[in-house]
Amino acid sequence: MNGARSYPWHHEQWQRVSRARAADRLPHAILLAGPDGLGKADFAKRLSDSLVCVRLNENGDACGTCASCRQAHAGSHPDQRLVAPDEPGKMIKIDAIRDLSGKSVLAAQEGGYRVFLIQPAEAMNRAAANALLKTLEEPSSRSVLILVSSHPTRLAATIRSRCQVIKFGIPRVQEVRAWLMEQGCEAELDELLAISGGAPLRALQAREQGWLEESRRLSQELLTLKQRKANPLTIVEEWEKRPLPLLSGSLKRCLSDLVKLANGLRDSVIYHPGIRDDLQRLGEGIDLQRLHGFNDELLRLDRDSSHNLNVQMQLEAIANRWLQITRPGAQ
Ligand SMILES: [Zn+2]
Repeated sequence: MNGARSYPWHHEQWQRVSRARAADRLPHAILLAGPDGLGKADFAKRLSDSLVCVRLNENGDACGTCASCRQAHAGSHPDQRLVAPDEPGKMIKIDAIRDLSGKSVLAAQEGGYRVFLIQPAEAMNRAAANALLKTLEEPSSRSVLILVSSHPTRLAATIRSRCQVIKFGIPRVQEVRAWLMEQGCEAELDELLAISGGAPLRALQAREQGWLEESRRLSQELLTLKQRKANPLTIVEEWEKRPLPLLSGSLKRCLSDLVKLANGLRDSVIYHPGIRDDLQRLGEGIDLQRLHGFNDELLRLDRDSSHNLNVQMQLEAIANRWLQITRPGAQ
């Protein structure tokens, strides 16, 4: 792997940390906060690599060629430590943080900084967060703790207040458009912008994972169910063949759009302006409260799926609920 990626919408944030470092005023704890899809993890890697490099370039980036950089690129630099859950969606436990606090008192080996990256920071359980607080109370010099979080409000306030917060926001739409064009996204640019909420890396993910196709397909399936033109079990069988995160993400976005359209909101705020008419037809005649109830079911599906409950049963429940709320004259 070569150097960490940088993105045009990170410019200001990068300037800020580079200036602080050049002035030898780098905080001991930095919290990178903002929505998903903006590349905060890439920023964290870029910062981490620059902190162990001993020969920065004019942008304050790692040189990419010194011995430290080579180790960093191989993922084997002794002064870089990543703390993450064992599996996505799981918690970060206290042992991982204790291990880290033990290491932070040692001086950096190569004349750079010791870097500890915690990602996603909100995955720390309470005990881990308390252990981290102890680390923050005794900041050892030349060590930097980088926390990455898409849900910073879920972090203990005591931790947030000890960090210098660097915020990432949705970039200006022109900037995102230009960047997505460079990535070869012109064909479905507007639709990708809408479905990603303007987060550029999420837009790329949407293209790679086929979010738009999935939503088109799903809205048609929901329509045939609503019109009683398909066997629900056949539809559930089809759903089971698709990756659950893809399906449930699409369900949630379609449903969110149904609620917004039912409330008379305009195209500019929905996820799927490209299939607006289909969604309008899909939502016709459904009681708004029942739509909200359906939304709750979907959120439950998301929670349960992380606990490995029977997916087929969950999907059948979703199909049944949809049949219930679309029954003609349903109250
Ligand atoms: Zn270097």
